[in-house]
Amino acid sequence: MAKPRSEALYAEALQHIVGGVNSPSRSFKAVGGGSPVFMKRGQGAHFWDEDGNRYIDYLAAYGPIILGHAHPHVTEAICRAAENGTLYGTPTELEIQFAKMIKEATPSLDKVRFVNSGTEAVMTTIRVARAYTNRNKIIKFAGCYHGHSDLVLVAAGSGPSTLGIPDSAGIPMSIANEVITVPYNDLEALQAALERWGDDVAAVMVEPIVGNFGMVMPKPGFLEGLCAAARSNGSLVIYDEVITAFRFHYGAAQTFDGIQAPSLSAIQPDLTAIGKIIGGGLPIGGYGGRKHIMEQVAPLGPAYQAGTMAGNPASISAGIACLQALQEPGLYNRLDALTANLAEGLAAAAREHGIALTINRIRGALSTHFCDHPVTNYAEAQDTDGEQFALFFRLMLEQGICLAPSKYEAWFVTAAHTEEDIATTVAAAKRAFAVIAQRH
Ligand code: PMP
Repeated sequence: MAKPRSEALYAEALQHIVGGVNSPSRSFKAVGGGSPVFMKRGQGAHFWDEDGNRYIDYLAAYGPIILGHAHPHVTEAICRAAENGTLYGTPTELEIQFAKMIKEATPSLDKVRFVNSGTEAVMTTIRVARAYTNRNKIIKFAGCYHGHSDLVLVAAGSGPSTLGIPDSAGIPMSIANEVITVPYNDLEALQAALERWGDDVAAVMVEPIVGNFGMVMPKPGFLEGLCAAARSNGSLVIYDEVITAFRFHYGAAQTFDGIQAPSLSAIQPDLTAIGKIIGGGLPIGGYGGRKHIMEQVAPLGPAYQAGTMAGNPASISAGIACLQALQEPGLYNRLDALTANLAEGLAAAAREHGIALTINRIRGALSTHFCDHPVTNYAEAQDTDGEQFALFFRLMLEQGICLAPSKYEAWFVTAAHTEEDIATTVAAAKRAFAVIAQRH
């Protein structure tokens, strides 16, 4: 598959845009470098690059595009919003309609706020938790990504209960020292961290189902134990549902019955951050939680958060249209069935060629890990064959199958994918595994 125009555009982009990309995950650095593919058009489950090559898309823009590209209902809503003016700087009725829809699907949210990105949403939940508890530290889990604000870009490493190693230059140690990182799915490590730093822990922040080192379910009892331990310590529980909200069913993961918990009420958070899917492909983030906690936020309370673009009519209109479309009966079951077929096909193809492959699938999302052990935490996700993944990624891309260029990212099946797309993908994977088996 020739891509001369992508390569030329990349060379040009490098001269003007740092690294040639506006988000580092779009570069091919994690899969050995080279020119990323420059896309020109997306329609349904497919997109076309600048050279006219067609791809089946499992990137789904890192999650938001659950309906597929250019879904007519969403497109119409965006066009209507554009015709009426995209930004007012005043409240609109649309925001109320959208807030009600989000709240109805997520009972732990008494009050919400809309912002422009997942990063902003998470960042603000931390501020609100600190304001409410009058404490400073947060506990997070290794490998969980919570956006690029200072506080959560710390110690994504996998050591047991580590404190304060920034993952990025430019983060002061004084900030890094406010973050404690423990392994996901490890209640004992969480309890030990709470014992050591308890008095100063404002919140325990977690992706209730992980989407950032593959798709990883909480072990039975993990979220329940986490909520109980945090609460008995006077700390809040923050769920980062930026990837997971509306991913597995119509609602957040905190109400998804795939999570094994004695009762849903035992795993409800105090604050939740959302984003991605709820914007229907336009920029958005949101956060919310229990009323008395959310009332810390300005103009009611002392915790400040604002945004020129927050709640803009275009993003909100796209979000409403997306949630309306997601209410189509059977949609999530269709995603589940398609993705089950994809997972089975990939597993059989890997077996046929003697490739060790662990597949974690949760409804319409899956992750592929080149290893022969289960992946339940970040250390296990790291301990996989990155070279095999990089080769697989390139062999798939050459056959018109677009995955995220990182061994940690999920594949997302959209409502626009068909059985034919899945069969084409499995056939491509078979050929890729055959090449990998020869080389390794
Ligand atoms: N939280 C999670 C769980 C995410 O996966 C992401 C983005 N991948 C973010 C927060 C940050 O969202 P955004 O990129 O919209 O700032």
